[in-house]
Amino acid sequence: MADFFEYYCDSCDKPFCERIHVMNLVLNNVEEEFCLECLAQNEGLAGEAFYQWILDYVEARECFKTPWDNFKFALCPRIADKSCFCKVTS
Ligand SMILES: [Zn+2]
Ligand SMILES: [Zn+2]
Repeated sequence: MADFFEYYCDSCDKPFCERIHVMNLVLNNVEEEFCLECLAQNEGLAGEAFYQWILDYVEARECFKTPWDNFKFALCPRIADKSCFCKVTS
């Protein structure tokens, strides 16, 4: 049994991690949640640029920063293929 939640994109079905989940909260995506690529595409930004953009926002807000900082990026389902940018922050 996993001791963390797994999230899947409602658009392309790719898994994503807790930090991308926080991104969805930042963007007010409640009913449906999307992976990094789909979110970035919606905003017209490249994946890494988008990650940095959200990171600046999260850093300024304690309620988002706490779950973001608590997430252990080793648990990210996308670390293996380096398609998430979790490591950038810590
Ligand atoms: Zn997606
Ligand atoms: Zn991640």
